[in-house]
Amino acid sequence: MKLKNLTVFVLMTRIRPQLAKEKIEGCHICTSVMPGEPQVVLGKDKAFTYDYIFDMDTQQETIYNDCTERLIEGCFEGYNATIFAYGQTGSGKTYTMGTGFDITIGEDELGIIPRAVNHLFRGMEERRQAATEQGRPVPEFKINAQFLELYNEEVLDLFDTAREVEARKQRSSIKIHEDANGGIYTIGVTTRTVTSAAEMLQCLKIGALSRTTASTQMNVQSSRSHAIFTIHLCQVRVCVPDNDCTAQINGFETLTAKFHFVDLAGSERLKRTGATGERAKEGISINCGLLALGNVISALGDRSKRSTHVPYRDSKLTRLLQDSLGGNRFVIFLCCKDRDFMETLNTLKYANRAR
Ligand code: ADP
Ligand code: MG
Repeated sequence: MKLKNLTVFVLMTRIRPQLAKEKIEGCHICTSVMPGEPQVVLGKDKAFTYDYIFDMDTQQETIYNDCTERLIEGCFEGYNATIFAYGQTGSGKTYTMGTGFDITIGEDELGIIPRAVNHLFRGMEERRQAATEQGRPVPEFKINAQFLELYNEEVLDLFDTAREVEARKQRSSIKIHEDANGGIYTIGVTTRTVTSAAEMLQCLKIGALSRTTASTQMNVQSSRSHAIFTIHLCQVRVCVPDNDCTAQINGFETLTAKFHFVDLAGSERLKRTGATGERAKEGISINCGLLALGNVISALGDRSKRSTHVPYRDSKLTRLLQDSLGGNRFVIFLCCKDRDFMETLNTLKYANRAR
């Protein structure tokens, strides 16, 4: 049985360790994690409970194993999944996601996306091998990727490296549509079909670089935009006997799944002073995406509201992710940088509305 209409929402918090510089500056630590409990206390008495809490000494591998591995396995059964990294700038979103491409980091420091990509390709190989060994028809897989950036309610294609950003923005004709089954699809977005983990990671790297270049050209900080890396998995396999196999033809079924990895814009409040013109506009639109996401999450979390209205259309971010939130599996990673009490408090409060 497939529980297609079940929303599985997992909330985690990760507190990043102090950087060498912060240690030298003698920043005091304002969070404490209760041993054996998924609870973090900010300051003296502000306690927050999550599904998981990862304290400063948590390794990247633990983060992956505890939260992402199952979601990748779910993709092989046709479930969509989304992982968000939320937090102020500098709190470890990019590090956790693994799109920093810092050449000095070792294998053990790889973030979520590279691990997920490796897992995905390993999973396909294992399934092909198992079928061969058991004399069943070998499943066929097709994988492609898209990489978008949302900035001021504008959608930029990060795989479109050929053109100047300004031209790209003006010519950008990316449209978001909904099909008859409520599926969301985009028009005008570059789709890369990939056949190996290395190729996928190369695509990711090119896109991440393009994000940096774009922000430099536009003279803005990439921390003000949301980046969405999406993997589409399409699988044709022999029907599993106890599945309902709705889409079967001649004993074969086709399963598709989308996995979004979302590196959200920095959650810090823009200081009012100096935030005029472009900057002020930025501030408003970023709040728009994060605000809309918060509202969607709280509507999904509220059973009485679930059947009525979920405000997906309030931002491009939530519209784009509409079919991957309700009735799906998603994880929000709250990234915290310990030293800023107020920002940390805002971060910890953010997703708790869904509880
Ligand atoms: P963000 O994307 O939220 O702005 P980054 O991921 O760029 O933040 O992290 C800021 C800095 O902190 C980077 O230098 C990064 O390498 C470091 N960092 C973040 N999280 C960790 C961690 N868990 N362990 C070690 N260093 C980290
Ligand atoms: Mg970042």
